[in-house]
Amino acid sequence: MRARVDGTVQGVGFRPYVFRLAEQLGLDGFVANDERGVLLEVEGDPAAVEAFVARLPREAPALASVERVSAEAVAPVAATAGFAIVDSARGGVPAAQVSPDTATCDACLAELRDPADRRHRYPFINCTDCGPRFTIVRGVPYDRPLTTMAAFAMCDACRAEYDDPRDRRFHAQPNACPACGPGVRLLDAGGTAVALGPEDGDAVRAAAAALRAGAILAVKGIGGYHLACRADDEQAVAALRARKHREDRPFALMAADLAAAHALVELGPEEAALVTSRERPIVVVRARPDAAVAPSVAPRCADLGVMLPYAPLHHLLLADTGGALVLTSGNAADEPIAYRDADALARLRSIADLLLVHDRPIHVRADDSVVRAVAGRPPVRLRRSRGAVPASLPLPVPAERDILACGAELKSTFCVAKGGRAWVGHHIGDLREAETLAAFEDGIAHFERLFAVAPAVVAHDRHPDYLSTAYALAREEVARVAVQHHHAHLAACLAEHGETGPAVGAIFDGSGLGTDGTVWGGEVLAGGLDGFERAGHLHPVRLPGGDQAVRQPWRMACAWLVAAGEGGEAAPPPMPAALAGAVDGARWRAVASLARGGVAGPVTTSAGRLFDAVAALCGLRAAVTYEGQAAAELEAVCDPHERGAYPLPVRDGAILDARETIVAVARDAADGVPAGVVSARFHRALADATARACVEVAARRGIDLVVLSGGVFQNVHLLAGASTRLDAAGLRVLVPEHLPPNDGGISYGQAAVAACTGAGALR
Ligand code: ZN
Ligand code: ZN
Ligand code: FE
Repeated sequence: MRARVDGTVQGVGFRPYVFRLAEQLGLDGFVANDERGVLLEVEGDPAAVEAFVARLPREAPALASVERVSAEAVAPVAATAGFAIVDSARGGVPAAQVSPDTATCDACLAELRDPADRRHRYPFINCTDCGPRFTIVRGVPYDRPLTTMAAFAMCDACRAEYDDPRDRRFHAQPNACPACGPGVRLLDAGGTAVALGPEDGDAVRAAAAALRAGAILAVKGIGGYHLACRADDEQAVAALRARKHREDRPFALMAADLAAAHALVELGPEEAALVTSRERPIVVVRARPDAAVAPSVAPRCADLGVMLPYAPLHHLLLADTGGALVLTSGNAADEPIAYRDADALARLRSIADLLLVHDRPIHVRADDSVVRAVAGRPPVRLRRSRGAVPASLPLPVPAERDILACGAELKSTFCVAKGGRAWVGHHIGDLREAETLAAFEDGIAHFERLFAVAPAVVAHDRHPDYLSTAYALAREEVARVAVQHHHAHLAACLAEHGETGPAVGAIFDGSGLGTDGTVWGGEVLAGGLDGFERAGHLHPVRLPGGDQAVRQPWRMACAWLVAAGEGGEAAPPPMPAALAGAVDGARWRAVASLARGGVAGPVTTSAGRLFDAVAALCGLRAAVTYEGQAAAELEAVCDPHERGAYPLPVRDGAILDARETIVAVARDAADGVPAGVVSARFHRALADATARACVEVAARRGIDLVVLSGGVFQNVHLLAGASTRLDAAGLRVLVPEHLPPNDGGISYGQAAVAACTGAGALR
């Protein structure tokens, strides 16, 4: 009997599993990795063969995901007795799946802590159930020579484990030990190895001692370098902020274990499951009021981002330091995270006092993934990267020709697709940085090779100025599909749930180019993968000063007050007291005139900008230092006990008219109503109006399915509020689960649209 197994079956201990199963059942034959997955042949007693086929998918290893087993009868050869794992065949078309990087397993952790084990305190301990995968793979098939472990020749002891099918490390490609594998070194900021005295012990102990004394340490991890310091040391955290040029954006923390995480944040069962999952994402969750965390870690945030150690090096470092660490991406300001050693030293030496480095190269940069738990609902993914990538997602309408989708521009990802599968790449970031753009192009080439995708169709955003669009237009000999930004958000959510539509989609984000040339961002769409109509939207206002309005929320407060008719036909609206300290009268009047029209005030329906206006009016934020900051802070202050709501009528054609809302916000703020109360009343008004608009459009068009997506739905008050009202109205509500609601999901949505609409047109 010959069988082919498709799915995530390489690099997950699948071949040794097959070996053990065959041996148990007394079958002869072989198993091999090839370009598509796993190929095997077994022969022997027919009942045993039958049992083998039945058990094969059922008892597969933890990290494997078997999609299909296709078995066929072949003539027995009986040439060799016994069962063998044979070498991977090279060449041909690789389409095998590479698995994500996986947190250190319990068996390896026990050895790491066992003074009698030969890998006691070895920072690179791993086995077939755990360790680096995606970030060390250079090509497929997944075998040691095509990983960044190729340069390390295994010692006799490691080789014996690797060759023994009964061993936990049988064919564990990154297998290593202190005698033969990678090692760590501690460098000073000049790049010179720090001499370790007998009292310092090893490099990790010395690094931990420096951290305890208040140092900033660069640490090479799985997907790149981090910058670390003690979480409870305000001086160290403030110094890290200053040197990194990061003003307000919160830092993530790493806690030694679940108990230590409990001391920092309010972990419910859902959050605890997320934080201990094999993916080990950063989990954003409510901070405990008594958490021992310096104020500069997350200024003006109610939440903290916490993760647990996922590499053995982290386990050692956290245990040796004895307290939680700030662990933030190794970069300055908005640069991409450093992952190559020479580059990291050059870029991080001005930030870090010491660098804890190692000599196992990282082939692909991968930032930490970020998720946020929502009570009673699936968690919201804010970033899908290390630990999740490159697991594939299904496409509800299979692609007839291979697709590349180029995504958006800020939280960019790309996506390649073939047949019914799509692979969304790791988080790339802001393409307007030269190095990020290079990472985008390299990443696409890598994925095309890994998954044997030769794109004949290239999907991209309609925005002509996005660098992802420019890349798409420069690809030669391909058909191109331009997908409207909010349609891509809608399609991504539908497709990950296996749906094609039609649905009503409330798609709220910062901005995306609309089909009418204006800046959309508060859209009620009706449609599916094959197309959409704009059924409604937020009342339009001007974006006074274009991009400047994004950095200065007070401008949006002005624009909304002008739109609401405050101040009358020609006069500027009176400046709210909350802004008096931040803006002078002349600028206010100038912006008010931009807000009345003209080329410097493009029309927008952005929901993100409405949040900005409200945050500015209640005195939270006149200017921001990172995208989405005003909205995040408005959400953070939201008073859970307030039950009121502002008026927010939904007018003909599902127009969410927030003009009255803004007037009410301004009045409350002027009367000294606390920002938390204003925030709660605003959130409730918007959640309610969103639900009413969706219900109305759904009824008019005979649709029972609603999608909530776009970056604004990272806001859990809005998400939970609108979902609950729509559930109550008897509609089926879909929200993004595997991908972020923000622009990280756009590329997959573009691919789903291109598979559905592109195929027919291009035949
Ligand atoms: Zn392990
Ligand atoms: Zn070894
Ligand atoms: Fe968007």
